Amino acid sequence: MEICHVNLNKNVDTSYDILIDRGLFDGLAAELRKKPLASSYAIITDSHTEKLYGKNLLNYFKDEKISAFLISFEAGEKSKTRSTKEQIEDKMLSYGLGKDSCIIALGGGVVGDIAGYVAATYMRGVPYIQVPTTLLAQVDSSIGGKVGVDTKLAKNSIGTIYQPKKVIMDLNFLKTLPKEELANGLAEIIKHALINDKSFFNFLEKNIDEILKCNLDILKIAIKRSCEIKASIVEQDEKENGIRRRLNYGHTIGHAIEAALEYRIPHGQAIAIGMDYASKLSAKRGFLEEGSVIRQNNLLEYIGLPHKLSHHKLKPSKILQHIAYDKKIINGKINFVLLKSIGDAFIDDSITLEDIKNILAEG
Ligand code: ADP
Ligand code: ZN
Repeated sequence: MEICHVNLNKNVDTSYDILIDRGLFDGLAAELRKKPLASSYAIITDSHTEKLYGKNLLNYFKDEKISAFLISFEAGEKSKTRSTKEQIEDKMLSYGLGKDSCIIALGGGVVGDIAGYVAATYMRGVPYIQVPTTLLAQVDSSIGGKVGVDTKLAKNSIGTIYQPKKVIMDLNFLKTLPKEELANGLAEIIKHALINDKSFFNFLEKNIDEILKCNLDILKIAIKRSCEIKASIVEQDEKENGIRRRLNYGHTIGHAIEAALEYRIPHGQAIAIGMDYASKLSAKRGFLEEGSVIRQNNLLEYIGLPHKLSHHKLKPSKILQHIAYDKKIINGKINFVLLKSIGDAFIDDSITLEDIKNILAEG
């Protein structure tokens, strides 16, 4: 036998910067004229962010005499499908965009996920820039390179990991964000503090009134710290085989609640309930002090996230059913994230469906 070995062992550096400030959006086109990433740009956005920001961005590109096209789809998670991806790709092809083009993902998590996925496969991969316009997308989905779409059977089930060239977070976007959207992002910021950084949790408690008033100076500190925590976890475990699972704190039960309610509950509310149960389970197992459970839940309640399941009229058995379907269960192990203390999470693979059933039954 002859063997012809194809040696593809390469070390590729996909590092990038996350820039956080006010006014970055207005300077983006000028920045790209100075340091281009491509000869043409496709700005992908949704129907809301198109009106709020997309048309302006297209004008900024025109002012800089850079070739750019605006492509939008109907806002909402229901658009995060293979069919929307196909429509975007067909438009890009009809505009003659080739290998030397770059995608700007301008919008919330839905836009970031779908535009990033288009970038990953268009012409076998073109560069893209994340410009997240919701707090949730800024502190969560725009970092780490997870991109993809939903199908009828499962959320985020088709996709890949494809890192952006950079992430531009303009704090001014937060001024037009509805209160409920702000709470969704804050829930993830609080989660990052709970799993990784006690002094950051103290900071959030102390400054929560200013954060809720949308004080951009305080939000800038909170977003930066939150991004640092997520980035450091992703750096250690890009493909989610180990430590990255800690980011799922509150999400095992949270995702099951979302699925059981057919996504009619905001993500922040679902994970607030999930974090409530996860903290109670941590306390029951003797890891977390009762006082810390109360501190966590008081903060979630203060930002307008009820952490109780009761008013959703959802049977625990329905939640358990969805946990059992969860794609993150490996070899029958749930890999549940618990807290040892505020700022210190770990994965406990001894938690069973029975344990979850019992904690849900306690209300
Ligand atoms: P996510 O909350 O995961 O970021 P979406 O991408 O669905 O989810 O965004 C939520 C909604 O907020 C969408 O309707 C989107 O158009 C809208 N939106 C995004 N950014 C802003 C903004 N800066 N101001 C107002 N609405 C926004
Ligand atoms: Zn989340």
